[in-house]
Amino acid sequence: MRCLKCQNKAIIELQHGPLCENHFVFYFEDKVYKTFKKYQMLAPQDKICVAVSGGKDSQTVLHLIKKYFLKNRWPAENIFALAIDEGISPYRPSTLADLKKFCKKEKIKLTIVSAQKEFGSTLDKALKKLKNAQLRPCHICGVWRRYLLNKYARKLKATKIITGHNLDDEAQATLMNLFKANVNLAAHLGPVSGVQEDTHFVQRIKPLYFCAEKETKLYSLLQKFPVHFQECPYAEEGYRAHIRNFLNDFEQKYAGTKQGIIKSYLHLLPLLKAKAKEKNSRPQACPRCGEAANAGHCKVCQINELLKNEN
Ligand code: SF4
Ligand code: ZN
Repeated sequence: MRCLKCQNKAIIELQHGPLCENHFVFYFEDKVYKTFKKYQMLAPQDKICVAVSGGKDSQTVLHLIKKYFLKNRWPAENIFALAIDEGISPYRPSTLADLKKFCKKEKIKLTIVSAQKEFGSTLDKALKKLKNAQLRPCHICGVWRRYLLNKYARKLKATKIITGHNLDDEAQATLMNLFKANVNLAAHLGPVSGVQEDTHFVQRIKPLYFCAEKETKLYSLLQKFPVHFQECPYAEEGYRAHIRNFLNDFEQKYAGTKQGIIKSYLHLLPLLKAKAKEKNSRPQACPRCGEAANAGHCKVCQINELLKNEN
């Protein structure tokens, strides 16, 4: 297989043709920079909180944001990394070790917030205690992560939270919301999240929105980032795992399926946002912790109350 641009040996075949290493790196970085520009994701005065796990996507997005800031001569010291240690053993300590290596090399400030310190329990322990409550690991993990990211991004005065969600993640989330008829949640997806500005939330940005998982994987390998490509031990347990396997299967048979989902979704997004705005369902402050809640106590306080009762 030869690169369609230069005839050198190709290392990946994309929908528009095969590319060699140099042309792939250029194509990938250019695609991310174009996404920054198209959605006006970044500004020189921004204080950027990059939500990181230590995996390939978070290291890729961190690296490219810093590169973009330096390219534009913007203050790169305004970029910091924020990781949540939910307490998933031995997976999380291992990805955090990769992350520490990466941040040290790239000279990026890293803050790690631990669920054990914040909530008095790790995810592993919480799951054992709450086995009868029928709460899925990814549900508790997602609720904790969103809460702590938002809380600490605000505390550290970030103007934007950047996440490493890629095209595969977003195609999965879109289908999950569709299958579960979560129209309101669907309005919060997209490259720039959020329906309306709210003081409880820091705006979320996804620069890898148009990058397929296999592309970020290849990019991180070519850049020799310290990534071990491990999977969370709970990854196969959730609803998302079924959707992911189903989509991968479909993509193999009908190339371009995931991109098709994203393209269709982006056409519908303005309608979904307008509909969600009409409802004007602004979050309230949780009476216990002050963070955002839809009604009554926030989801974190509800989970932590269950945990307390199991002690
Ligand atoms: Fe958390 Fe589920 Fe992701 Fe594991 S797979 S890190 S439990 S959301
Ligand atoms: Zn609360």
